[in-house]
Amino acid sequence: MHQRIKQVRSRMHQAARRCARDPETIRLVAVSKKVPADRVRQAVAEGIHIFGENYVQEARRKIERLSGSGVSWHFIGHLQSNKARQAVALFDLIHSVDSIKLARALDREAAKINKVQPVLIQVNIGQEATKSGVSVAEADRLAGEIGSLKNLVLQGLMTMPPFFDNPEKARPYFTALRDLRDRLQGELDSGLHKQIHLHDLSMGMTADFEVAIECGATLIRVGTAIFGARD
Ligand SMILES: *Cc1c(COP(=O)(O)O)cnc(C)c1O
Repeated sequence: MHQRIKQVRSRMHQAARRCARDPETIRLVAVSKKVPADRVRQAVAEGIHIFGENYVQEARRKIERLSGSGVSWHFIGHLQSNKARQAVALFDLIHSVDSIKLARALDREAAKINKVQPVLIQVNIGQEATKSGVSVAEADRLAGEIGSLKNLVLQGLMTMPPFFDNPEKARPYFTALRDLRDRLQGELDSGLHKQIHLHDLSMGMTADFEVAIECGATLIRVGTAIFGARD
């Protein structure tokens, strides 16, 4: 794992250098779905401090086992409204808000524990039937709605483009997410929600994170390149 993490970091730095970005502005989220707690602990020892999980139950067990390790947990999977209570209790950032119903449920549960929950909107930028996320057209309305909820803070957008063998083919999707972010930010600034800063673009995985960095990713979600293949 030591070598793999070193390599991911070096690839991150090279990609950042190619587009004159400060590598410190890009956060690495180690995707630990299906990875047991002791392997996560090993990654912590290698300096990884953000983990991304897709399933609430699985994450809860791991988070309990690693309590006190000072790491930050992000939720990146599809979230059902009936898991909102657990999600706000467990995660520092939820990348995958994709409906007004879910946003309201998260807001309600966050209010109950006096938390202001940071969230991203997941956008289905490739309009794939198999992927969750709102359409570009729906993103406006959801952003405005989240802006009016007191216990949520909208920090940006997330996407998962279609899979391609050639990562260059993902570039237009990453660019589209960045363009959407810029347009939404303009609309929020000129509307009722001047206090919202869509700082984060969560995009890029093992196969394509370098292209995502070149397109402005601030959070990359990398599983396989860190932990090896999942079964
Ligand atoms: C599994 C997963 C990843 C990581 O994928 P790898 O190809 O293993 O890097 C990133 N994002 C989401 C939403 C995932 O479900």
